[in-house]
Amino acid sequence: MVATFAEEEVERVVEGVVERGDLPLLGQDPHATYRLGIMGGTFDPIHNGHLVAAEQAFGDLGLDVVVFMPAGRPAFKLDKRVSSGEDRYAMTLLATSDNPHFLASRFEVDREGVTYTADTLELMRRMYPENVELYFITGADAIADIVRWRDADRIASCARLVGATRPGYDLDHARTTIAASPYPFDVTYLEVPALAISSSYLRDRVMGGQSLRYLTPDPVSGYIQKHGLYGVPHGRYES
Ligand code: NAP
Repeated sequence: MVATFAEEEVERVVEGVVERGDLPLLGQDPHATYRLGIMGGTFDPIHNGHLVAAEQAFGDLGLDVVVFMPAGRPAFKLDKRVSSGEDRYAMTLLATSDNPHFLASRFEVDREGVTYTADTLELMRRMYPENVELYFITGADAIADIVRWRDADRIASCARLVGATRPGYDLDHARTTIAASPYPFDVTYLEVPALAISSSYLRDRVMGGQSLRYLTPDPVSGYIQKHGLYGVPHGRYES
């Protein structure tokens, strides 16, 4: 079972740094090292590729728990249409609910204004003791861009990075960009066959009235249908 801050009076633990207590409680034994995976993505919608990638990171890197963190108001998508944080969080919660070492967090969707990964990781670094290592997991495309993100140096000092990619993806660009950066990024790449699936593919299928079965958990397809996301008229496509 994964205990969360909510069960331990979060204010006393972190002195007001965090308002929501849905992050896992880790680091209690000062002689042990803990590894916390933070799965960052827009998750519009979450799909089986994300779930398989997180499970693979959990096993390969010996993580204690993976927190799925839907991006709040993504800094880089201000000009794009993105589903509400509530919808993306709800789908993430539904998709992760049957895995005992996955959690879904409102940490970013509840933050006011534009959300930057550097702020998220710095807040989390302050919440957890030094014996909790943070692993920020996201797509390899996003990792290649990370050097241009706001306060990339703070990201490098707070967390190790994990770039998930599909087989055949050319990692040269990501590797070269990271190597040329002045910041000490620590990056691990994971090849995940299921990442042939993408959120845009799912959105296109919904718009085309096609089924999402086996691409995302059924409760997520049901949610999309029920709430008419991605332009589907209520009840039109087969779930
Ligand atoms: P994106 O640019 O939409 O995604 C790039 C690629 O990575 C897509 O192929 C995407 O596939 C995949 N991907 C995204 N998240 C993934 C994950 N957790 N596991 C595996 N593949 C993933 O990136 P995004 O989803 O909007 O953002 C990724 C993370 O980076 C978020 O936490 C976001 O907040 C952060 N970010 C921060 C800044 C900043 O602080 N300035 C800037 C950019 C991104 P799918 O579309 O299928 O997910």
